[in-house]
Amino acid sequence: MKEFHSFGWYAARIAPHLPKQAFKPVPSRLFGGLAYFLIIIASFVTIIFFDTNIWINLLLSFILGSSFAGMGFLGHEILHGTVVRKPWLRDLLGAIAFWPLTTGPKLWRKWHNLTHHVHTQDEENDPDAWPSMQKFKESRLMRWMYRVPFWIRAIASFASLAVTFTLHSMKMFTVYVKEFNPKKQPSVWLEAVLPWATWIGLLVWIGFGKWFFAFLLPLLIANFIVMAYISTNHRLNPLVPVNDPLANSLTVTTPKWVDVLHFNFSYHTEHHLFPGMSPKFYPLVKEQIKQKWPERYHEMPFGKALVALFITPRVYYKDKEFIDPHKGNLFGSLGNGMNPKNLSIKKSKLKLR
Ligand SMILES: [Zn+2]
Ligand SMILES: [Zn+2]
Repeated sequence: MKEFHSFGWYAARIAPHLPKQAFKPVPSRLFGGLAYFLIIIASFVTIIFFDTNIWINLLLSFILGSSFAGMGFLGHEILHGTVVRKPWLRDLLGAIAFWPLTTGPKLWRKWHNLTHHVHTQDEENDPDAWPSMQKFKESRLMRWMYRVPFWIRAIASFASLAVTFTLHSMKMFTVYVKEFNPKKQPSVWLEAVLPWATWIGLLVWIGFGKWFFAFLLPLLIANFIVMAYISTNHRLNPLVPVNDPLANSLTVTTPKWVDVLHFNFSYHTEHHLFPGMSPKFYPLVKEQIKQKWPERYHEMPFGKALVALFITPRVYYKDKEFIDPHKGNLFGSLGNGMNPKNLSIKKSKLKLR
């Protein structure tokens, strides 16, 4: 068996080869956020005060959705403390960046920084990990879902990316709010309620017709963009006993301009090695990983990763494979036989009992 290492093990071996400034916050990333902010305001003004036709409105919704997603990626970076170090400023800027995705900074830091990063791909403790065969057997809803024909299920699960972030965020709120110390709980509530109050206030002010293009459709588009990344970050990888980012994370590759728009969010393995480093420096980290452990590193073009996600079932079988639970077809995970060029079934008709 391949031995696993923690993210600290890799980080300690790469850090000496990186420039000092890679470990400092990069406040200039905020200019990107400012650009998105201005685009959002201009699009709102156009939709609210002008009677534009449906095609212009659809175009503006797309621009707004992309900007909401871009702000979300920046918010993720800000709340890791890689843009500014002062906690109150970090949380304020993070709250603004996550306003459209309606996720509060305290909740996000608990759910993402303190739980997802620490327990990545641990079936019990990672709030973002997907279920194993054992869990499947226990869940009626999931058993029913896997009876639906493959194509319908695959298309529905893809379409569901358009709502998943918002729904998951609400679920995380209900899971974690109780864990905050009672003195902090009111502010966690406030951070969750205020963004929704603004968006519902906007609905009352401009009416559903305009609100659909100004907020609802952009929110679905933003959900889809951020979830397209989040679902490929770890879901093609195995469940592993040690939080080893080279085994349990995937870096997707995108054209340079996409990385600029999305603040290098594609470099997810690098992010798990150095969550406190500005993603601006992740291309340098990638170079180091590829020099030192090329056989362990997983990268895939973004489109291919989405196709792989689309084709393979999402129930883990013995941590390393995916299983279509009723048919018994098995698919390898990354590092365990998944070949992005040929996503064929590894073994079929496995006897389940
Ligand atoms: Zn992750
Ligand atoms: Zn993160």
